[in-house]
Amino acid sequence: MGSSTRTRFASGSGAKPNPSAFDSLNRHYVSGVSTSRQPQSKRRVSWVDITEIAGRDPLDQEGSIRSILTTHVVPPDAVESRERIECDLVVNCLGAWSPVFSAKVGISDVTEPTRRQICMVSVQHEDANRIQELHSLGMVVDPSDLYFHPEGNDILAGYSIPDEAPGFDFDYDGEAFFREHIWPRLAECSSVFERCKHVRGWSGLYAVTPDRSGIAGPVAGFTNLFEAHSFTGRGVMQSYGIATALAEWIDRGSTSSSIAMLNRDRFSDPSKWLVEDLHI
Ligand SMILES: Cc1cc2nc3c(=O)[nH]c(=O)nc-3n(C[C@H](O)[C@H](O)[C@H](O)COP(=O)(O)OP(=O)(O)OC[C@H]3O[C@@H](n4cnc5c(N)ncnc54)[C@H](O)[C@@H]3O)c2cc1C
Repeated sequence: MGSSTRTRFASGSGAKPNPSAFDSLNRHYVSGVSTSRQPQSKRRVSWVDITEIAGRDPLDQEGSIRSILTTHVVPPDAVESRERIECDLVVNCLGAWSPVFSAKVGISDVTEPTRRQICMVSVQHEDANRIQELHSLGMVVDPSDLYFHPEGNDILAGYSIPDEAPGFDFDYDGEAFFREHIWPRLAECSSVFERCKHVRGWSGLYAVTPDRSGIAGPVAGFTNLFEAHSFTGRGVMQSYGIATALAEWIDRGSTSSSIAMLNRDRFSDPSKWLVEDLHI
């Protein structure tokens, strides 16, 4: 790395050039990117523009981050500062927003951002032992594609609505989601769930690919661009393995892990798809 450049990551971690960086990691938005020509018809990412978003409330009660993540526009009054960073290496790990970055460097992505909801459910059963039994089960995936596991005194239950239209949307349907999608499946699953109550819930975005598996590795045609995103509903579980393998690839120029199968090139040949059948 040249002394006048800094390696930065186009990621949720963003970039911040001072020691208080970890106070406000999510307030640094990659708002622009530039590529330049390289030998052998390749390109490199030359620089990214970082916009620091004003506000210090980690709960983001003013909603500026939420608004930016659904509209991709930083309102002028939300700008704290701007910085242009030269890039030695860039990793696109923007989750459901990775296609936005890809598009800016000219790559057509297969990933679709798709809303997924989950909620806490209070189980009202006279026999406390029956509820305790749930704790020995770990996470349950029901044949109806409902999934749940104990969470404190309640259970956490989710269901991925199959015909949910793609889009950048965090609205949670609340009680209606529980009544229509969660409760009937719980009640069908076990009589323990006949009486239960919606406590609260939330929604987030899955980054969904055609085979429902993630995308990781070097981006073809670029000399300094890697990616690791689109892990649908399994990104937390896969994060350690993916990060370790990608770090090895970046450091050594190759990887000994099976991460190579996650390269985006597979989408041009359906026989190379890594189809995940479980719809959760
Ligand atoms: C309801 C729900 C339940 C889930 N349950 C599970 C589970 O049980 N187990 C499991 O393994 N996974 C689960 N997942 C999936 C898991 O959350 C994701 O796969 C994982 O978070 C993906 O991680 P990521 O780092 O790739 O992307 P993300 O966690 O989405 O991180 C991307 C980050 O990029 C930021 N960003 C976007 N655009 C920009 C930009 N231009 N500049 C800077 N930053 C930007 C975003 O703010 C975000 O913080 C669930 C997801 C949802 C929605």
